[in-house]
Amino acid sequence: MFNIYNDNESLQILVVDDERSVLDMLANALGRLYSIRSATNVSDAVKILESQSVGVLITDLSLAGESGTSLAKIARKIDPNIEIIFITGHADVESSRIALDLGVVAYMTKPIDIMDLFSTVEKALHARRFSVKARYFSEMILHGVKELDNHIRQIVWGYHFVQRINQAIDVRDTVRLILTELSKVMNAKVIIMGINCLDYTDIYAFSSKGVINQDTVINLLGGFWKMEMSKAKFSLAKVRNKDYEITIFENENEEKFSPYGNSCSITNSIPIFGEEIGFISVYHDINTEMEEEEEGLFNILPPLIAPAIYRGHLERKSRHLANMDGLTGVANRRTFHEFLEKEIMRAARTKTDMSYLMIDIDFFRKLNDNYGHIAGDDVLKKITEVISSIIRNYDLLARFGGEEFTVILPDSDIDGAVKIAERIRETIEKTTVVAVDKNINFTVSIGVSTFKGKSGEEDISRDKKLIAATTEKLLRTADVAMSAAKQNNRNCIFYFDDETNAPVLFKEKTK
Ligand code: GH3
Ligand code: MG
Ligand code: MG
Repeated sequence: MFNIYNDNESLQILVVDDERSVLDMLANALGRLYSIRSATNVSDAVKILESQSVGVLITDLSLAGESGTSLAKIARKIDPNIEIIFITGHADVESSRIALDLGVVAYMTKPIDIMDLFSTVEKALHARRFSVKARYFSEMILHGVKELDNHIRQIVWGYHFVQRINQAIDVRDTVRLILTELSKVMNAKVIIMGINCLDYTDIYAFSSKGVINQDTVINLLGGFWKMEMSKAKFSLAKVRNKDYEITIFENENEEKFSPYGNSCSITNSIPIFGEEIGFISVYHDINTEMEEEEEGLFNILPPLIAPAIYRGHLERKSRHLANMDGLTGVANRRTFHEFLEKEIMRAARTKTDMSYLMIDIDFFRKLNDNYGHIAGDDVLKKITEVISSIIRNYDLLARFGGEEFTVILPDSDIDGAVKIAERIRETIEKTTVVAVDKNINFTVSIGVSTFKGKSGEEDISRDKKLIAATTEKLLRTADVAMSAAKQNNRNCIFYFDDETNAPVLFKEKTK
């Protein structure tokens, strides 16, 4: 960055005189105390000045046809801080004027008084040390100012960046804003963020060079995972619904590497309260080195983005909790009602059928009485697990009340719905829960009702009253079917037939 001040270097003294005897006398006298170089002509002197650091130049003014003043000027060009002492046989006005212009330490006339020479050389060395030190400190101050300027710019940028990302409405939005803001200040080709926070795992990628697909992300991270350069583990991130274990770099381990030939990357982990909640990686073209300022910004990121990400996840989690049943973790009755109305409207609009299952555990009161409430709770949890494993991703399972569950099946006609109901009934019949060393078996009764949007004559999705009436009818008829199932010795399925306006048994029980 700048020359470190070196005391010994500046102590070198170059003596130039074309009279050998004078040169030897000077060199011998000074050589006892100082490190001396000597030359008899200008070109030898220049060679020494160019190849070594000389602090003081002592030169005769007339050098066999050449002039000491021109040597002094060359010396000043090579090192502006060199101190100069002129020696002359006869003082004249012209050379003393040049000496004055060059700001030489002394202008000595022969014969030289040796004590005079020592004190003059000491003065020169003192001046030399001072000027070197002054240059060193002024460079340091300039460097410090530059650093400070960089820091101030980083702080200002960080302030605006945090303001911007705090406008995000959820985690996805937070990450989207982070990535777009970053891409404005970085030359990165791809930025990837992995988040593993409050039971939520995801990977986000952003490319300034257009659309980035999952294969590219997997390739980039593939190289990254293979590096195994850190002890810190980023557990089980999901890409394309597969589980991957990602190894991330620790801050002090930052390394550039090439995941597949054409990029280099740098990674930082994102910590909050001392815990890893994610990582952020930037990938550059192999020819585009990360600039110092860019790297500086990248390194101040983790503490700036961590709180925003964490807050986003807390909000997501609390929203999630408000919509979920505490015991079983499935949707609660409120979520169920919102979802049901939306799905009826959708079915009416798209002219598709949608079905609804009401599932009630048989003799649950007795089960509670026999095995206790804790065992009863275990059965409730087990039943939600079984149902969840059977239904499709876009179906909704909800806990309707105590031991009653509902399933909304979009795009399902009555035949499809009873088939799913039968699979649920059958699987639950075969399921066992172990509590207090006993195997508990249980069964469910299921009532099925269907909204027939397919044969619906008009689109009722805009008519709020009709939607409310349809919702009510769907719930009521499933309830009627359920009661019929209970009366039919339980552990069976009844669906409500709109034609006959009565519940119908799905098929003979296979018990
Ligand atoms: P049926 O076959 O007619 O449905 O009989 P049942 O005993 O299941 O029906 P009932 O509706 O009379 O009883 C429901 C019981 O479910 C009452 C209550 O003790 C129990 N229950 C409700 N919520 C919970 C819960 O969260 N945990 C436990 N362990 N039991 C619950
Ligand atoms: Mg009940
Ligand atoms: Mg019951």
